[in-house]
Amino acid sequence: MNLFPIKRCPNHCPYCLAQKFMDKKNETLSRENALEFIAFLRRNRKITGKPLNELNIMGGEPMLYKDLAWLIKKIQGNRNLLVGRFTIFTGGNFPMKNLELLDEISDVDVCLNLNEKKIYHSDKVYKRIIANLQAMIDKKGLRVGLGYNIASLDFNGDEIIATAKKFGIDSLRIAIASPIYGVDNPNIVHPEQYKELSPKVFQFVKKCHANSIDVNLDCTVPYCFFTDSQCGWFTKHNQRGMLNGIRSCACGFGPLCISPTLQVSKCTVLDEISTSLKLFSSAYEMYDAVLNSIDYKFGTPDLYPKCATCPHRTRCSGGCPAWKKGFLDGPDRNDITDKLVRLFEENISLYWDNIEKKDDALHAKFLENEKSIREIVKNLPEPNDTRILYVLYLYYNRVRNYKKRKYYYRKCIHHGGAEEFFNFKTKD
Ligand code: SF4
Ligand code: SF4
Repeated sequence: MNLFPIKRCPNHCPYCLAQKFMDKKNETLSRENALEFIAFLRRNRKITGKPLNELNIMGGEPMLYKDLAWLIKKIQGNRNLLVGRFTIFTGGNFPMKNLELLDEISDVDVCLNLNEKKIYHSDKVYKRIIANLQAMIDKKGLRVGLGYNIASLDFNGDEIIATAKKFGIDSLRIAIASPIYGVDNPNIVHPEQYKELSPKVFQFVKKCHANSIDVNLDCTVPYCFFTDSQCGWFTKHNQRGMLNGIRSCACGFGPLCISPTLQVSKCTVLDEISTSLKLFSSAYEMYDAVLNSIDYKFGTPDLYPKCATCPHRTRCSGGCPAWKKGFLDGPDRNDITDKLVRLFEENISLYWDNIEKKDDALHAKFLENEKSIREIVKNLPEPNDTRILYVLYLYYNRVRNYKKRKYYYRKCIHHGGAEEFFNFKTKD
């Protein structure tokens, strides 16, 4: 989970995926909201019986958030463990004295996002960041790694490798810069250019490996970004962190982002859909809300024409889901469920009315509704979910279509978990 206690950041990186999210620069996490967030962590612990795996503190620049140490200490000081692992994501551009913020805390990871020198406004800024990097490495209780965003075809990976080696850093988080939903950012690499970018990224990872630097791919790339043989190389050379990045970010996983005003969104790039943290009891509930309101609408990617027939399309989100235009305007799962329930109810009463009245118009309306039901079910992301099959079984039972009832009964058993519904054991 990502917490954004502050929206202010002095770096203004041209590829930044949080540019729109950070519009309201003055928003910071108040102590009152921080305590509300901690209360959520306690609820989460109580309900799930375990701490949140990891909490990433991001921004904006978290090292400019004056209550940073207070917040971490308050979470760490709880009687029960609330968070397994803390990581502070910094851009490194802050007054060095702010490192005192971290004086009394320990067991925290830091990921310093380092750009190439030419991206910063001045040499002075770059030098300040490098000085802060050294100071963080020297500080007790912090484990420091580097982050690097690839935002152009002519990226200079050698520069970041040289810095990592100079400071003895052996872990590097990389990301292919993501878009912001609904915004065209010319300062990032677009999917049409991925064919050209992919071999360069592969060579870069190989070079990191040769220099004993472990690479983790953050954010997701399309399944077709790397070739099979490149993926084979990652496996052979134990670069699991790269393979983990080749997955979907639109299937209920991916991050959860919490703004300073405690609004929860899937990610800063998709933050037009957000809900108040106060409504949730656990991280699972949040994932469920994201699944219903965002991932459900996503469907399958349309990054390239070949996506329409690609065998990976149900498990690939075509890289960052924010590339898919207009999908957030579609209906969410609750809209679809409401529509299905309405159609089921209407058809059950149409069926029984028709038995009494023998009316052709009623029958025609019944058939029309059945067509819509079939269409909706066919387009559900998981049409073979046992719960859906069971509901269809119940529906056809009520409208006395025994052929279909039997069909869904069998499907229900075939797809597993049916004993819960039919009160029998499928196996010993
Ligand atoms: S669905 Fe599209 S983006 Fe994903 S692997 Fe297939 S072709 Fe590539
Ligand atoms: S939606 Fe997923 S891929 Fe896109 S920026 Fe957010 S985490 Fe990265």
